[in-house]
Amino acid sequence: MSQHFLLSAKARSLSLGAVMRMDDGLVEQTFRAIRWPDGKPVCPGCEGEKVYDCVRNRFRCAACRKDFSITSGTIFASHKLPLRTYLAAIAIFANEVKGKSALALSRDLDVQYKTAFVLAHKLREAMANDLKGMRVGGIDKVVEVDGAYFGGYVKPTNHKENRQDRRKASNQNDKRQVVVVARERKGKTLPAIFAAEKQSLPFISSRVMKGSHLMADEAPSWNDLHGRFDVSRIDHTKAYSMPEMVHTNGAEGFFSRLRRGEMGHHHHISGPYLLRYAQESAWREDHRRVDNGSQVKAIIDLAMHSKPSVDFSGYWQRNRK
Ligand SMILES: [Zn+2]
Repeated sequence: MSQHFLLSAKARSLSLGAVMRMDDGLVEQTFRAIRWPDGKPVCPGCEGEKVYDCVRNRFRCAACRKDFSITSGTIFASHKLPLRTYLAAIAIFANEVKGKSALALSRDLDVQYKTAFVLAHKLREAMANDLKGMRVGGIDKVVEVDGAYFGGYVKPTNHKENRQDRRKASNQNDKRQVVVVARERKGKTLPAIFAAEKQSLPFISSRVMKGSHLMADEAPSWNDLHGRFDVSRIDHTKAYSMPEMVHTNGAEGFFSRLRRGEMGHHHHISGPYLLRYAQESAWREDHRRVDNGSQVKAIIDLAMHSKPSVDFSGYWQRNRK
């Protein structure tokens, strides 16, 4: 049997130790080279290219006279921690294949829980930018579609006689949401959030390209897909895989990564942040065969080309306008 990719030496190209041994200049160079490919700073305000080097890490635009830094106008704008901490956070984040808990990250970096929580969410937001406007499938492509419910846990009462049937919609709470995924075989993974599976049909129609062959399970929510796509169905009560590659195991693989992240690391991923966790899992799924050094570089690239956070404009949500 061949060796699993993550166990091979090729998968390890950047260690946390190597990050911690970098000097400040090299850390700055790393961010600078990824933000501005030729290394020359460009004003984020007016895109002026004539720029004065001020004290370390800061620049002044000759045209609009504004000062800026390597992270101005990016998701790390107005950062308070040293750049090395961000690099270490990204390395730690990339190495955890099912997600990193904010509590553990706060211990690793010796920062407050809130700081680690916001930092991790900014990384998720940057990763999500990789999926923006993305479409999957196409002629001769197979796309697996499936949904899984997250959040809205209703705790059973202590005494049996007080318990309700939690399968009934009337006994569920409104925090329950479904993550629907469209995953192209040998291609990309695209998740979205809905209150119910059936509501995802417009999303599937617009983000899965015409001519794709769809795979879905027997849930009635998918019946209307037959009007637009060629669809094969798999009845999971009978089998997980049928001849001619009829299965949704790729979509299930995505859900198992997200579910394990929820159970093992985050514990609560419901509510307004569920989409971000789903997008993070999709990114991880699509980069699972990429070595960790390249993953870190790709995340820095996304962070350096993402606008200041829409989810977190201050250090904590309360600052949100
Ligand atoms: Zn300027």
